[in-house]
Amino acid sequence: MTAAARRDRRRGIDMNCHPMRQDVNRVIAVIGGGFAGSLFALKLSVIQPGWTILLVEANARLGRGLAYGACGPQHILNVPVSRMEVGLEPSFADWLIQRPGRLREALEESGWLTDAFVPRHLFGDYLEQHMFAALARKGNGGIRRVHGEAMAISQMPRQIMLDDGRALAVDAVVLATGNQPPALPFRAKPSDRIVVDPWAPGALDDIGSQTPLLLVGSGLTMIDVLIALEAKGHAGPVHVVSRHGLLPQAHRPGGSWRPVLSAGVSPRQALRIIRANVREAQSQGIPWQRVFDAVRPAVAAIWHAWSLGQRAQFLRHLRAVWDVHRHRMAERVAVAVERFVAEKRLTVSAGRILAAGEEKTVITAVLRPRAGKTQLLEVGAIINCTGPQIDLRRTAHSLLATLQRQGLVLSDPLGLGLESDDCALKAANGMVSDWLYALGPLTRPAWWEIVAVPEINAQIERLVHKIAKREEAFAQLLPELFLDIGAGI
Ligand SMILES: Cc1cc2nc3c(=O)[nH]c(=O)nc-3n(C[C@H](O)[C@H](O)[C@H](O)COP(=O)(O)OP(=O)(O)OC[C@H]3O[C@@H](n4cnc5c(N)ncnc54)[C@H](O)[C@@H]3O)c2cc1C
Repeated sequence: MTAAARRDRRRGIDMNCHPMRQDVNRVIAVIGGGFAGSLFALKLSVIQPGWTILLVEANARLGRGLAYGACGPQHILNVPVSRMEVGLEPSFADWLIQRPGRLREALEESGWLTDAFVPRHLFGDYLEQHMFAALARKGNGGIRRVHGEAMAISQMPRQIMLDDGRALAVDAVVLATGNQPPALPFRAKPSDRIVVDPWAPGALDDIGSQTPLLLVGSGLTMIDVLIALEAKGHAGPVHVVSRHGLLPQAHRPGGSWRPVLSAGVSPRQALRIIRANVREAQSQGIPWQRVFDAVRPAVAAIWHAWSLGQRAQFLRHLRAVWDVHRHRMAERVAVAVERFVAEKRLTVSAGRILAAGEEKTVITAVLRPRAGKTQLLEVGAIINCTGPQIDLRRTAHSLLATLQRQGLVLSDPLGLGLESDDCALKAANGMVSDWLYALGPLTRPAWWEIVAVPEINAQIERLVHKIAKREEAFAQLLPELFLDIGAGI
């Protein structure tokens, strides 16, 4: 019998024999009150209103996290409103209808609210309001907000230790700590003119309006930074360098495509099938985007079936191409980026920055292009746009580093996150926990595509039913949950 079962028996709760009695007095702690942690708490509190859900968040605000907190009014969602629906009442679309003044530009572009790409902070406002309502509800159980940083978790007794010395007694813990801050991908001494984390508050404040810039990384983080710089009046030249020099593709509406992939294909076969389908779709006037949308629901199952070698092969050879087609930008953002290129304010090249150093008024960066000789670039500042640090084997996150040292969690050999089985975390000895779980980007090794709202929402649904021991709902298989998430993403 596990320690938790012994404790439950002392409290008169037999988890195995009396399914209804497990509903009494459980304390579930969620570490991280960003998107995933808040939504999980909201959903679990509906299914198990008598349980206490401790939502531990280091920051002052709930429901936002990095994506919907560290953004300005100029940053828009990467997917249309319909794709951001997470099963709450009112729906995101209904909630937005009450705020028409903030939707003008989005509606001008798309015509229909459900197809519109609206400012990102609105989704944060929406979730935050749901959280306010849930926290205001009185009752024996429900969500309790705990403001503080979780520093450690002990197994016996089962507790969470906070930075201010408090210890919280819990029955189960869900880690929803989100993306890690970015790490610099080249050698450089610390400098005010090298921005390591562009999402940190005030990170771009000291960039002058004419400062020549080097942006390292060319994905959606770079696009976010470009849009933020434009909004603050930056008009200087911007040089973007990334390994492949590829910019994210744009969304295009219209058409539909049949499912094209299923578990069992190798990375090479998947590439061949996608290419053939893209050619066929385009010959019929259907945007290639629909083919990628049709692939999306099968991604978790395909990834799951791949061997470690196949996953490594995908990461090495196909990931960059997959990412730019999968992580797309709204059409009006793409138009702005095309304008920057046409005005020669933005140049993009393929290569690696090896090192950078500060010399009087300039920063000199050593660029090894993908083709050609090593060059020196002189700029006024460098902004690291390589996105979140994924490899947790080198994490600076106190809690995650401590949990790894304790052997309570295990990072995967490809450096993608923590090993888990259907959200239950694996310990260093390979045992799957029955009380320690994770959600969102932390669980990438098992799911691969687990960074965006639709997938995380499906994952949350499953974990809520698993923890609440609602076997029928839980028994629904992942592909069914994922069937509807392709279109428009
Ligand atoms: C810039 C950006 C834009 C995105 N745009 C979109 C989009 O348009 N559409 C889409 O579908 N997806 C988008 N995503 C992806 C996705 O929505 C996020 O990755 C998702 O929000 C992840 O949720 P999360 O809860 O795991 O992390 P977060 O929402 O970041 O929350 C993690 C929380 O944990 C807290 N925390 C961490 N450690 C501790 C600790 N030890 N103690 C207490 N609290 C702690 C943090 O303070 C934070 O609030 C975007 C992602 C990013 C980064």
